[in-house]
Amino acid sequence: MKVLVLNCGSSSLKYQLIDMNNESVLCKGLVERIGIEGSILKHEKDGLEGKYIVEQPMKDHKDAINHVLTAVIHPEVGAVKEMKEIDAVGHRIVHGGEKFASSALLTDEVINVINECVELAPLHNPANLMGVEACKAILPDVPQVGVFDTAFHQTMPQKSFLYGLPYELYTKYGVRRYGFHGTSHMYVSERAAEMIGKPIEELKIITCHLGNGASISAVDSGKCIDTSMGLTPLEGLIMGTRCGDIDPAIVPFIMKKKGLDIDGIDKLMNKQSGVYGMTGISSDFRDIEDAAKDGNELAKVALEAYAHKVKKYIGAYTSIMNGVDAIVFTAGLGENGISMREMICKDMDFFGVKLSSEKNNVRGKETVISSDDSRVKVLLIPTNEELMIARDTLKLAK
Ligand code: AMP
Repeated sequence: MKVLVLNCGSSSLKYQLIDMNNESVLCKGLVERIGIEGSILKHEKDGLEGKYIVEQPMKDHKDAINHVLTAVIHPEVGAVKEMKEIDAVGHRIVHGGEKFASSALLTDEVINVINECVELAPLHNPANLMGVEACKAILPDVPQVGVFDTAFHQTMPQKSFLYGLPYELYTKYGVRRYGFHGTSHMYVSERAAEMIGKPIEELKIITCHLGNGASISAVDSGKCIDTSMGLTPLEGLIMGTRCGDIDPAIVPFIMKKKGLDIDGIDKLMNKQSGVYGMTGISSDFRDIEDAAKDGNELAKVALEAYAHKVKKYIGAYTSIMNGVDAIVFTAGLGENGISMREMICKDMDFFGVKLSSEKNNVRGKETVISSDDSRVKVLLIPTNEELMIARDTLKLAK
C-alpha cells in the first residue's frame, strides 16, 4: 500500500509518498509560494541527481497538488506509474480541539468538525483544509485521513490543561491547554521505549521537541500527562521567534508603552521575540551559537536562558511523574545542537542524568547519548511525523 502524506501550510505544502510495505520514502518534495508570484515545486527521489524543479504559477492548493501528482507519476522522476497506485492520503491537521483524540477518516462530517476548530488555529487549519478539499476533488475515490497535532495530548488530565481563569472561558470558548507537535512526541516516545527494550506502559519519558517551534511533554505509561504548549503554540519554551511563557501582565503593559493594537502585540510575541528578539541576530540557533562563540554576550545569555527554561520543564515533569526513565531530544536543535543538549543536561546528576560528551558528539542519528552509569537514559531520536501520519492513514484507510 502506498500513502501520500501532505502537510499544507497557507502558501506551502510538503509531501512524501511512502511505501507501507517497508515504510520507505519513495519520493518527497516541497511547494512554496502557492497563490503568490514565484510558485515553485522541488521534488526529490532517491537516486535522482539533484532536484526536479517546477517553476510555474500555482494559484491555489489544487493547482499545487496537481503539480505534485504530475511529479509523483512522472516517468523519470516519479515513483509510481499512475495515480491509482496511491491508496490513501494522510493529512496533517494542526488543531482538532477536544473533538479528536486520535486520527480520523475525513468524511464530510469530520471536515465540518475540523472547520469548527478553525477559530482555535486560524493560521493553520484553513490551510490544512484547503489541502483536504483539493485532494478530495482530484482523487475522489481515495480515502483521506486527518492526523491531528493536538490528538496525542488529549490524555492530559484537567489539572494539566485548565488555566487559572474563570471556568466559563473553558466551557464557552474552549480556553484550555491543547498542546502541539503531538505526532512527534508520540513517535519519539514510542521509539524510545523500543530502543530501551521495555513496554512503554512501564516508562516515564520526557520528550523535548526543540525546533523552530519547541515543546516538551511528560509521557507517563505512553500517555501524555502534560505538555508545554497551550491554547496556541505560543506558550512554553523560548523559541526561534516566539516568547513562550511570560507574565501575562506584560501584554497590556507593552501595548500601552508602545501604543500597540492586538495584531501588533500578537506579532511582537510570535514573530519578533524568542532568541531572535533577545539577540537581534537571528531565529536560527546556528547563527546564535556562532555569535556566542565570537563573544556576543546577548547570544550567550539567550542560549543560557533557552537551556534554563528546558531544564525547568524537565524538573517540573520529573516531579509530576514522580521520576523519569528517559529524556528524548528531537527536531532541528534537539537533533543537531550538541552544545545545547550539553547545557540542558549539565548539573542534573541529582535527577540521575549524566550525559556522555563522547556519545553526545553526534547529529541527526538515533542513539543513546547518556553515559553507561546514567540512571536516566538520554536519547537522540530524529522525529518522523510523516511516517506516523502514514501509519495512522494506513490503519484507518484499511
Ligand atoms: P525544525 O523546526 O525542526 O526544522 O528546526 C529548525 C531549527 O533547528 C533551526 O532554528 C535551527 O537553528 C536548528 N538547527 C538545525 N541544525 C542545527 C545545528 N547543526 N546546530 C544547531 N541548531 C540547528
